[in-house]
Amino acid sequence: MPLHKRMAIGLLAGVVLGLLSFLFFGDAEWLGALIRYGTQPVGQIFLRLLFMLVLPLIFSALSLGVAGIGDPRRLGRVGMKTLAYTVAVSSVAVLLGVLLVNVLKPGEGMSTETRARLLEGASERASAVTARVASQKSGMNLLLSVIPDNPIKAATDMDMLAIMFFAFMIGIGLTLSRTDATRRFEEALQGLYDVTMRLIGLVISFAPVGVAALMFTITAQLGYEVLLQLARYVGVVVLAMVIHQFGVYSLSVWFLGKRSPRKFFKDIEEAMLTAFSTASSNATLPTTLRVAETNLKLPSNISRFVLTIGSTANQNGTALFEGMTVLFLAQFYGVPLTVAQQVLVVLICILGGIGTAGIPAASLPVVAMILGMVHVPVEGLGLILGVDRFLDMCRTTLNVTGDLAAAVAVSQGEYDTA
Ligand code: ASP
Repeated sequence: MPLHKRMAIGLLAGVVLGLLSFLFFGDAEWLGALIRYGTQPVGQIFLRLLFMLVLPLIFSALSLGVAGIGDPRRLGRVGMKTLAYTVAVSSVAVLLGVLLVNVLKPGEGMSTETRARLLEGASERASAVTARVASQKSGMNLLLSVIPDNPIKAATDMDMLAIMFFAFMIGIGLTLSRTDATRRFEEALQGLYDVTMRLIGLVISFAPVGVAALMFTITAQLGYEVLLQLARYVGVVVLAMVIHQFGVYSLSVWFLGKRSPRKFFKDIEEAMLTAFSTASSNATLPTTLRVAETNLKLPSNISRFVLTIGSTANQNGTALFEGMTVLFLAQFYGVPLTVAQQVLVVLICILGGIGTAGIPAASLPVVAMILGMVHVPVEGLGLILGVDRFLDMCRTTLNVTGDLAAAVAVSQGEYDTA
């Protein structure tokens, strides 16, 4: 049975068993123990194995991708295409989300009772996130910190943009100096890449179990009450995501990539399932690279370049989610936002899609920051924390699909030099 089928079964089994256990044995002690000593560690082993491989993978894939593209003019063209695509499709995502919140108004018309229940304890819950905002870099510092003064420190901090910058420069250096020694170094990088991908192959074969464990752990502890109270908000966000996932990406694959959208979605199923269950674009990167090379058969240097950068910097689902959540909370608190303020939110969310890390719940501090800017109570975050995991899984699926759609579009008309 092909892997993506086994993964889909794992996912389904995890959800169904988790939900049943939650419904029938909700508070049972043995269920708690099963989660603590069984499914949770198994899910974590899967996640940690993926994260373990992300650093060597990003470093080798990106430097090889840049060196493989070679010719600086071609690199410039591929880079510009990637940037233009990211900005254009993120803008579409945010505008779509903002439009839907304005039309469907999920934040208005809640009964005072529901409002009171939602607000209960919201500020305490939000404070965990707002504490993280202070450590976020902004403005000039953010721009400067993309250039690491110490690449090893950037790696230990998992500062992805800085690591990418370093890998990018190494790739440029490889292109500029063609000696025997640099060729051997490039070969060694290729060796690192091959070893990492082989190991990923092993880890991924364990994915059906890992995915099932992750899904069981989440659903067996689910508080679906919050999901019901926030049903309109969750519904509108999911609607926007579905339109973007199957409408916008289909159009992009069809018109820009000249491929069949149906086949595209079939080919990338493994990556979508991994994204959904891990809620992390970075953890999914190994799978994303694999499906791009083996199923989509994209030119390897282009796909390595676009996908590694995209796993942190092209996050359409995140941009869409951040915009919708800010506007939803503004509606909830009755804070009227002028058109100019909404435009500001849209612009920041487009940047947010580029700057948000590719790890679980990375959007929340960014949302907190934007809420502060447009004077919406930051405690509002406490409201949506209960449904964030589910929405994170959905937006990460969009982020990863978006990276692959970008790789398909950018590859169109490019040749493989590997
Ligand atoms: N979890 C998302 C990702 O890894 C980022 C986010 O929180 O929006 O793509």
